[in-house]
Amino acid sequence: MYDPLVHVYPNEKQPDPASYWMAISGPGPEDDGRVEGDVDADVVVIGGGYTGLSAALSLARDHGLKPVVLEARSSAWGCSGRNGSFARISGGRVAAATMVNTYGKDVARAYFGEMRQALGTVRQLIADGNIDCDVQPDGVYKVAAFAAHASGLEREAALYNEIFNYPARLVPAGELKGAHRGAEAFGALHFPDGFSMNPLKLARGVHMMARSHGALIHTHSPVTAWHTENGVHRLLTPSGSVRTRKVVVATNGYTSSKLHPRLSARVLPVYSQIIVTEPMTSEQIGASLPSGNCMFDTRSLLFYYRRLPDGRMLFGGRSAIAGSDAENPKHRRYLTNAMIRKFPALEGIAIDYWWGGWVAVSRNSLPFVYRVPGLPEVFWGGGYAGSGVSFSLHVGTKLALMAAGKPFDTQASFLTREPKRYPLPPFLRLGQRIAYRWLHAKDQRQASAK
Ligand SMILES: Cc1cc2nc3c(=O)[nH]c(=O)nc-3n(C[C@H](O)[C@H](O)[C@H](O)COP(=O)(O)OP(=O)(O)OC[C@H]3O[C@@H](n4cnc5c(N)ncnc54)[C@H](O)[C@@H]3O)c2cc1C
Repeated sequence: MYDPLVHVYPNEKQPDPASYWMAISGPGPEDDGRVEGDVDADVVVIGGGYTGLSAALSLARDHGLKPVVLEARSSAWGCSGRNGSFARISGGRVAAATMVNTYGKDVARAYFGEMRQALGTVRQLIADGNIDCDVQPDGVYKVAAFAAHASGLEREAALYNEIFNYPARLVPAGELKGAHRGAEAFGALHFPDGFSMNPLKLARGVHMMARSHGALIHTHSPVTAWHTENGVHRLLTPSGSVRTRKVVVATNGYTSSKLHPRLSARVLPVYSQIIVTEPMTSEQIGASLPSGNCMFDTRSLLFYYRRLPDGRMLFGGRSAIAGSDAENPKHRRYLTNAMIRKFPALEGIAIDYWWGGWVAVSRNSLPFVYRVPGLPEVFWGGGYAGSGVSFSLHVGTKLALMAAGKPFDTQASFLTREPKRYPLPPFLRLGQRIAYRWLHAKDQRQASAK
């Protein structure tokens, strides 16, 4: 399996994800095929997920440029077509209190504003493009997986109310039963905004919008080498090359450490996996997730889950580390066992789908969108830490703005800074293994705390 720390690009041997979304969404939209021969472009966008498609749409529609997207496989082949489907007020993985303590109230408020705008961007895209992507009603729960976490959620609710002026609310365990049954639910923080949908159909909708405004989307066109001379970039693919003065990099967790030396070791590709069960019986639904809302828990190595419109359970989390081990059935068992622990009524249920994908984690676990210093007109956005459905679509519009020569003014100052490199890149996986052990041990300690 493609591993960004090992391989140069996702090649043709990489299979499409065996995902529920692929199974139910029908054939993909028309695209512009492989790039053939040597061509010129105003702007090249590398990567055809939400970030790249949103950037291409905005470049063409809002800035009058003619972008060319180079996607290694098919449109939304990366995370964007295989994620857990939660569009939330989120981006990266830093707790609200840590954000306030580290960056101060003003920056934290500005960032919260960007995340709210990002969710608005998704809604607007769906409305403008008339994207038929099975949008579900709003409502997100952050569920206390351990009794010891309930008081933390109460403090978090107060912080959302007082600092962000946002109506998050603590739902005590007794009142959670209409949404969440089973075990490991000691109350929850409820966010009124945030919804789920079919993420592949969402990406395909943005793809069609971008093309309708004049963007070219070349699929099966991986960038295999990148040369720069006198301010001109030449991006090579197996069937042709593109010359351009401006490059938008939108490869996020699929960014090979060999794509460009300037970008390498600035994000850690982390594997996230999902199982989808067979349709639940009405008794099983009543004993697990009576509501169809988005849920994630408070573990350090968290689980996320929702009931799908056809009654199946979608359940995700992190366990595999290297691509070479990602398809080991022990990771499916790990997710299945965690699901049964939470929802004992699902004991014995069949798992119909199991797949995964690479998310990008920067050293501060926060996204970035910036002009890469030392390279002529190269703009890079990503680092959503597994929480990027809405934020990546937002970042795409900011990358387009910057590539069009306009400033992205934000008080969330960390966003436009170059992410720091991870130290000792050859030992990244070893470090991650140690971190996972430590996080598991921390979760176990919390489970036994009162
Ligand atoms: C299992 C899973 C569950 C998730 N669940 C959620 C969720 O519920 N909510 C949420 O907010 N976020 C979730 N995420 C994260 C979210 O999906 C991502 O943050 C978002 O899709 C990132 O979009 P992107 O366009 O930046 O990257 P991607 O969609 O990953 O696109 C990158 C693209 O770059 C292409 N590429 C790479 N190298 C090259 C090259 N050399 N040449 C050309 N193309 C190249 C890849 O083929 C890929 O298509 C999840 C992710 C995973 C994997």
